[in-house]
Amino acid sequence: MCEQQEHNIPKVYDPASVEKKWYKYWEDNGYFHAEVEEGKDAFSIVIPPPNITGQLHMGHALDNTLQDILIRWHRMMGHNTLWMPGYDHAGLATQIKVEEVIKKEENKTRYDLGREEFLKRVWIWKDQYGDRIINQLKCLGVSCDWDRKRFTMDEGCSQAVREVFCSLYEKGLIYKGTRITNWCVNCNTALSDIEVEHKDDAGNLWYIQYPVVEEEGTFLTIATTRPETMLGDTAVAVNPEDPRYGHLVGKHLRLPITDRIIPIIADSYVDLEFGTGAVKITPAHDPNDYEMGIRHKLPSIVVIGMNGMMTEEAGKYAGQERYECRKNLVKELQELGNLVKIEEHAHAVGHCQRCGSVVEPLVSTQWFVKMEPLVKAAVDCVEDGRTKFVPERFTKTYTGWMENIRDWCISRQIWWGHRIPVWYCDECGEMHASRTDLTACPKCGSTNIYQDEDALDTWFSSALWPFSTMGWPEKTPLLNQFYPTSVLVTGYDIIFFWVARMLIMGMEFMKDIPFEKVFIHGLVRDSQGRKMSKSLGNGIDPLEVIDQYGADTLRFMLITGNTPGNDMRFYWERVEATRNFANKIWNASRFVLMNIEGVDDNPIDRDKLTLVDKWILNQLNETAKLVNENMSTFRIGENAHVAFNDPPADFDTKEAYIVVNLDDACKRQQMGEGWFATIDDVPKQAVSMTPYQIMQCRRIVSCVPYPVKAEAVKNTVLAKETTNLVPATLLKEHSDFILYLDEDSAAGIMAKE
Ligand SMILES: [Zn+2]
Ligand SMILES: [Zn+2]
Repeated sequence: MCEQQEHNIPKVYDPASVEKKWYKYWEDNGYFHAEVEEGKDAFSIVIPPPNITGQLHMGHALDNTLQDILIRWHRMMGHNTLWMPGYDHAGLATQIKVEEVIKKEENKTRYDLGREEFLKRVWIWKDQYGDRIINQLKCLGVSCDWDRKRFTMDEGCSQAVREVFCSLYEKGLIYKGTRITNWCVNCNTALSDIEVEHKDDAGNLWYIQYPVVEEEGTFLTIATTRPETMLGDTAVAVNPEDPRYGHLVGKHLRLPITDRIIPIIADSYVDLEFGTGAVKITPAHDPNDYEMGIRHKLPSIVVIGMNGMMTEEAGKYAGQERYECRKNLVKELQELGNLVKIEEHAHAVGHCQRCGSVVEPLVSTQWFVKMEPLVKAAVDCVEDGRTKFVPERFTKTYTGWMENIRDWCISRQIWWGHRIPVWYCDECGEMHASRTDLTACPKCGSTNIYQDEDALDTWFSSALWPFSTMGWPEKTPLLNQFYPTSVLVTGYDIIFFWVARMLIMGMEFMKDIPFEKVFIHGLVRDSQGRKMSKSLGNGIDPLEVIDQYGADTLRFMLITGNTPGNDMRFYWERVEATRNFANKIWNASRFVLMNIEGVDDNPIDRDKLTLVDKWILNQLNETAKLVNENMSTFRIGENAHVAFNDPPADFDTKEAYIVVNLDDACKRQQMGEGWFATIDDVPKQAVSMTPYQIMQCRRIVSCVPYPVKAEAVKNTVLAKETTNLVPATLLKEHSDFILYLDEDSAAGIMAKE
C-alpha cells in the first residue's frame, strides 16, 4: 500500500525535487547499463560525442532527447538496449581553449611550454572541465550507459586510430603530399575543405593594368579580389577562344611594383565573362592557379607566409600583415597609375570554421586519405538500402557529395590530438608508419629518428566511433551483439563531417554498415527563425529552461512540432504551454491518489467491464497503437501530438473524463474497471518522452490498486518484460473495444467468450 507521504502530493509539479531523485534511482539500480545477452534482440545507438570543450546547447538537447526517447522505447519493448556514450577530444577547439588559459594566466604560448608540457596541461584541463557536458546531459535525463563512457583519446580508441592509419597507409590509401590547402593563419594549421565556411563578403574587384613588354603603351587589365597576391603572379592567362587577346598570347607583361616579367598564356579554364577575361595566375596562393601552374610549368612564388604576414618575396611589403599590405599596395598602384578602377563585388570568402578568420590557400606538405577507392562501398550500402536516411531526401545530399569528394587532408599543425604515427630516420631517410611507438629505425637500426610533428584531424577518430567504442580492433562480444548499430541520430549539418566518414570507415574496416538508419534532425532556431549564436546573443541555455521548468518540459517542448530533417523554432510560449499541460497530468494523478484509499488491489475483472470501460480501453489501445507506429517510423513529434493533443485518441479528453468522472466515483467499485487500467497505462505512452514526471506519476499511480507493483515501475524503465504498451490489438467485430493485453492472453479471453 502507499506510503503516507504519497498522499500529500504537492499541488504543483516540482521538477527539481523529482529529477535528481529519479536519475539517481535509475543510475544506482543500473537501469541504463547493457550487457551482452546472446540471442536477445539488440538495439544500439552511439552518441554523437560532444566536445570536451562543449557546453550543452539546444542542438545537443534536441539530439539527445530524440535518442533517449528511442532508447527508452526499445528498453520498454524488452530489447537489449545499448546507448554508448562518450566525448570527443576536439583537437583544435580544445587546444585554442587551453592556449587562451595559459596566455591569460601565465602570459605564455604553447611554444614557450613545449609540446610535452603543453599536452600535460591539456590533460589537466580535460580532467577538470571535460566532464562538464556529460553532467549537463544528465540534467536532461538521458539514459546513456555511463559505465561504458568512452573518449576519442582513451587507450582503446587511440589504438583503433593507429590501426586504421597504418592499415590505410599500408594499402597506399594514406599518403603525404605537397598541395595547396586551406590554411588558417590564425589557428596556424591546415583545414579540410569542409572546415571552411563560405560566406558572402562585401569585397571589391580591383582592376589593375599590367604593361605589355613587347608593345610599348599597351596594357592588359586584370581584375582581382585579392590584389596583394599580385606580388606572387607568375603569368596572366586568357581563354584561347577570346578574340580580344589572341594576339597577345606568348608575349610578356611587366608586373607593376616588382617589375618581374611574366608570360601571357592561354588556358581554356579561363572564364571569358569574368572581370576582363584576363586572369592573373598566382600558383602559390590559389587552388585553381596552382593546377594551372602545374599544367604550364609556372614557378610558384610564396608571398604570404603561414602566419598571414608578407614574406621576403613580397619585396618592400615584406613583414606587413596581408590586409595592411593590400591597403598599401592599392595606394601605390593608384599613385603609379596602374589602378584602373575599383568595383564593389560581393563574393564567397572562405572562413575558418573555428576562429572565423579568412582562410588563405597556401602550399604545404600534408597527409591525405585517398578517397576515391573508399567511396564505392560507402555509397553502395546507402543506395541498396542497407543504411537508410530518414527522411529519405538526405540520401541525395549524401551520395551527391560522395560523388565529388576530394582527398581528405587529415594532418593538422596542432599538438592536441592523435599524433601522426609516422617516424622518420635521420640516418637512412626512411619513413615508417607504426602501430607501436618506434625507438629505432626498422630499416637501419639507427636511434636517430623522430616522429611526425602533426596531429590528425579530429574527425579521423570520430569516423571510427561506432566500432572503436565497442573494442575494435579486438573482436569483442559487444561488437558482435551491437554492431551495426540500429540508428544514428544527428543533425544534417554534420552529414559530411561525420556520417559520411563513419560509413566509409565502417565499410572498410568492419566490412559492414555502421548503422541501419540515419535519423536526421534540423537545427533549433530562435523564435524569429535565426540560428542561435554567440554573436547574435540569441542562444537559449537548455539548463536554464530545465532549472525553471524541468527536463520533461524541455524535452516535450523540443519534440512537439519537430519533424525529421527540418529546423524548428524555440518559443517560450510553447515551453509555458508544455509546463501547463504537465501540471494537468500531475493533478489528475494527484486527484486519483487522494481518492482511492482502502481500495483492494486485485487484477482487473474483465467480466465487470461496462460499456464506458470498454470505450476508454479502446481509446487507450488506439493511442498505444499509434504511438508505436509513429515511434517505429521516427515520427516522434507526431507522437507528442497524438498522445496529448489530437482527438479522438487524445489524452486531454481521457484526462478530462478521468477528472470529471472521478469526482464522485473515486472508489474502484464505483469507478469501473476501465478507469484504473487507463490511469495506469496512459503514462506508458509518454514515459520515453517525459520520463521524470511519468516516473513520479507512476509512483503515485502504482498506489492505485491496479497490479502495478514496484517491479512494474522498474519495468517502465527497464522493460525486462514486455509491457502493455506493445501493440496488442484484437478487435472483435461485434464488440466495441480492443483488449489491451498481450495477444496470448487476449486470444485466451476471446476463446472463452
Ligand atoms: Zn582559424
Ligand atoms: Zn634508418
